This record gives sequence, structure tokens and C-alpha cells, in this order.
Amino acid sequence: MTKPEPAAARVTPDSLRAELSDWVRERWDPDLALRDWRELLLESGWAVPSWPRRWHGRGLPGWADELVAGELVRLGAAGPPVGSGTWLAAPTILAHGPDELRERLLAPILTGAQTWCQLFSEPGAGSDLAGLSTTAVLDGDDWVVNGQKVWNTSAHHADMGMLLARTDSSVPKHQGITYFALPMQQPGVEVRQLRQMNFHASFNEVFLTNARVPRENVIGAVGQGWAAALTTLSYERRFAALQRPAYAAVPGRALTEARAEADRHFATYSWYPQRAGRPDLVIEHARAAGVADNPVIRQAIARLVILHRVSVWTAERARQARALGARPGAEGSIGKLAASSVARESARVHSMIAGAAALLTGPDSALGGVVAEVLMSVPGQSIAGGTDEIQRNIIAERVLGLPGEVRVDRAVPFSQLTGRG
Ligand SMILES: Cc1cc2nc3c(=O)[nH]c(=O)nc-3n(C[C@H](O)[C@H](O)[C@H](O)COP(=O)(O)OP(=O)(O)OC[C@H]3O[C@@H](n4cnc5c(N)ncnc54)[C@H](O)[C@@H]3O)c2cc1C
Repeated sequence: MTKPEPAAARVTPDSLRAELSDWVRERWDPDLALRDWRELLLESGWAVPSWPRRWHGRGLPGWADELVAGELVRLGAAGPPVGSGTWLAAPTILAHGPDELRERLLAPILTGAQTWCQLFSEPGAGSDLAGLSTTAVLDGDDWVVNGQKVWNTSAHHADMGMLLARTDSSVPKHQGITYFALPMQQPGVEVRQLRQMNFHASFNEVFLTNARVPRENVIGAVGQGWAAALTTLSYERRFAALQRPAYAAVPGRALTEARAEADRHFATYSWYPQRAGRPDLVIEHARAAGVADNPVIRQAIARLVILHRVSVWTAERARQARALGARPGAEGSIGKLAASSVARESARVHSMIAGAAALLTGPDSALGGVVAEVLMSVPGQSIAGGTDEIQRNIIAERVLGLPGEVRVDRAVPFSQLTGRG
């Protein structure tokens, strides 16, 4: 997050709404191509108002981004694109640079011209991400990348990948990693979709065989990839990309293209509401199943609703703190852990209501198969973006100040770690 510029201190939510509304009235043309409209958002600084003016923003406080994105939709115009480009890659590139990449990569993300995926996890490196073994070796003007990534959401239709690769095995594992912007559409990148137990296929295996990355596509600096990766992970724990903009169903080229873009993006995430446990459906489910007056089920529902409300308020408090300029911190881990607890508890309550029928799919099953999808999807909530155990470690060490885990592999050159390098 960047510091608001001094003049921005006078801007209030109301004054900002008024200024944006005037601007939209003057500039919005429903027949523009979506990209052309977004170019206007970039030029005017409305695309990401909290960013510096030099980089498509207005130097406003953090709260302005969400307010403006919501207001654009409310005023009947299109907002910036959703997806891990806007959500993860752009703030990482903004924070770590260099300027040449900011010039070249930020605008196509913010107009929606280029979509991104995250190439972090590997078969042998998930929680222990710094143990990754994909390598990148400089060859003339290109880095040559070899290795395998896994669980890469949306890699099957991404233009660019946020790639972590090892560029130096002679130093300890966190120090020899470089963060690259990898062009996905090339012969050295093979993407294979994985079928999940809930029948969806949103992630992939990505095989990198002599894949080439232009020398200048290093985000941050060579060997400094871990710091940039931490930036990406801190944004990932906010779940921001999962909010679908409520575009009005009205004619006009820009909104038609924006709705199609959102449809494409959210097709991958259609099961994510079920992954969150659907606590919003438990009361309806209990009534439909005729068990809403069962005292044991009522107790379970009340407990779940309390847990859910508290977690929503905690997330809201964290959002307000960020809006006031705080960097994303341990509250992301707390919120993520709370979301996992709510999801699991909700799956348990749905199972209590439906009994064994909870596992059935089809039109006459519990909530038309939604409950079965909840049961098959909730485990993913405790894994994606860092597992529950890892969030607990972060909270224990960074919030509670408890002694850190024993980490014997931190000071040893990566090449000397057993079976690696
Ligand atoms: C829905 C979903 C989407 C995802 N999208 C992406 C993506 O787009 N890009 C990407 O790169 N990755 C993605 N991932 C991968 C995800 O980041 C990893 O699955 C996650 O970090 C866990 O790594 P792992 O699967 O290798 O499990 P492991 O790290 O092997 O963990 C196995 C078990 O051991 C426990 N464990 C490990 N280390 C410790 C420890 N130090 N202390 C206590 N317990 C520990 C874990 O909690 C877990 O229970 C996605 C995963 C999911 C489920």
C-alpha cells in the first residue's frame, strides 16, 4: 500500500462520490469498447485511486479503491477487471517494481487486456513454499525455466504467470528465489487441468520445459523473490477477487463485454460459495427439511450464525484498518482461519439437517445438490492460500509472540538440503 498524497487528506467519501459522479456523467459512453473505457479510467486515476498519480492512481487513501469500484457499478458504468492480475500481480509489481515493468505490465492488467495466474505451489513445495525446486537459468536475453507447478487456479486461460523459481542454490532457500512475469502462451508451458472431488476443474498442473522469460521480466530483483512473494500472499489472504461486480443487465457494448468478462472469470469460481460452507442457507435448509423446531439443530444453527457474524465483523474491522493505511498483517491469517472454521461448522450443521442424504446430488437432493457440493468443497477452504495450520503458526509467532517453529534449514545452502538442489 502506498502513502496517500497530502492533498488527498481533504477528500472524504462524500466528496469523492460527488466528483466521480460528475466525471462519469461527462465521460461514460455505453457504446465504448470495454478496453477503451478502462483506458479512460487509467488516464483519470479512477482505476486504482489509492495508487500514486504516476501509476494510474490519485494518491488517495486505501478506502478509495473499494468505494470507487462500487460506485462505478452503482452509476451504471464498468469498473476495473476482477482476477488475480488486479488482485495479486498488480499490487506486487507496484510495490516491488522495477519501473520498466510497472510501465509495461500494470496498464494491460487494469484494462483487462492480460489475465494472470499464480505459479507458486509445486508437488514438493506448498506450505514450505521456499523449498521450491523449479529452476531459472540465464541464457543470453532470456531466463530458461524448468520444473513443475501445481494447483494453479485459472492457469488454463491465463496470459501471464506469477512465477517463483530458484536462481541460486548456493545460498539458503529463501535467498535464492526470483519472481518472474512468465508469458504463458509459449511451447515450453504445458497446462493440464485437474479434476476435483466436487467435479469442478479450476486448477491445473503446469509443466515448464525450457520455458523462456525475457531477462527484464524479473519482479523486484534477482534473488529477492521471497519478499515479493510475501507481498502477493498478504494480498491473497484478503479474498478480494471473489466479489462479483453487480453489473446491470442493460444494453451497451462496454457493459456487455464486462458481464462476459465476469462470466468467464467466475466460471472457475462457481463452487467457491459452497467452499465457504453456505451458512446463509442453513435456516432455509432446516425449514425445508422440517427440522427447524428441533432443539439440537436450533442450538447448532445459533452457534454457527454467531461464529459467522463475528468473523464478518472481524473481517470488516481489518478492512477498515487497511482503509486507514495499515499494511495487510496478521488479521489476514485470523480472517482466513475464521473463514475455515465457519465453513467446516456450516458443513457440519448442513449434515445434521440432511443426515446421510447430504451426500446425494440431483434435483430432489438436499437443496438441489448444493449441500453435497458444500461437503465436497469445504476442505479446500482450509488449504487454499495457506493451510489452517500455517495460519495458526503465523498467529502464534507474529501475534502471540510464542517461540518460533524449529527451522533447521534456514541457514543452510539450498543445494545441501537433503534431496534438493
Ligand atoms: C482451492 C485452491 C486454490 C489454489 N490455488 C493456487 C494457485 O492459484 N497457485 C498456487 O501456486 N497454489 C494454489 N493452491 C495451492 C495451495 O497454496 C497449497 O495447496 C497450500 O499452500 C498447501 O500446500 P500443499 O498442498 O503442498 O500441502 P502441504 O504443505 O504438503 O501440507 C500438508 C499438510 O501438512 C501441514 N503442514 C505443513 N507444514 C506444516 C507446519 N510447518 N506446521 C504444521 N502443519 C504443517 C499442512 O497444514 C497440511 O495439513 C491452491 C489450493 C487450493 C485448495
